[in-house]
Amino acid sequence: MAIKIHPAVDGGVKPGKSDFAGGTLTCLCTSAPVTVTLKGNTAFNHVCGCTKCWKPKGALFSVVAVIGRDKLTVGANGNKLKIVDEKAPIQRYACSGCGAHLYGRIENKNHPFYGFDFVHTELSKDSGWSAPEFAAFVSSIIEAGFPPAKMGEVRARLRELKLEPYDCLSPGLMDLIATHSAKQKGTLAA
Ligand SMILES: [Zn+2]
Ligand SMILES: [Zn+2]
Repeated sequence: MAIKIHPAVDGGVKPGKSDFAGGTLTCLCTSAPVTVTLKGNTAFNHVCGCTKCWKPKGALFSVVAVIGRDKLTVGANGNKLKIVDEKAPIQRYACSGCGAHLYGRIENKNHPFYGFDFVHTELSKDSGWSAPEFAAFVSSIIEAGFPPAKMGEVRARLRELKLEPYDCLSPGLMDLIATHSAKQKGTLAA
């Protein structure tokens, strides 16, 4: 039996729609759910093995994407949102009722990903969101208690799903981070 990664990809990765105009995220509360509206499609969608991202119960990885912070609006019941860890670089706004993370926001203007919010489009009933493209922070699932001896099986399954496994972020995102810091240091022209 194949290792389960996340319910959204276990049956195969569904392609997104390039002309998709966005939609609504809704938390898991059965009454008074929190809603967040995204005007536009997400980018850099990926599965993530870190211990900070929100994931459904039993999932080994989260599925997380980014969208410009100006495209995100909190709709109903925003009073239920609480920041999980105020000191973390990404402030994750979780519903205090069901625990789902509605969005993660960076307030440090010097952070390479400043301007992007992190979202989980599995909280949306709309379809067409950008598809997961790779797997980040794969080795970190060990920190959550996954047996190290079975990591080969996890990476093989990710490759089978065409989600290339990386133990940090993808090369494209690592290049963005390095470019940002080189510009800050002045080793690259801004
Ligand atoms: Zn993560
Ligand atoms: Zn909720």
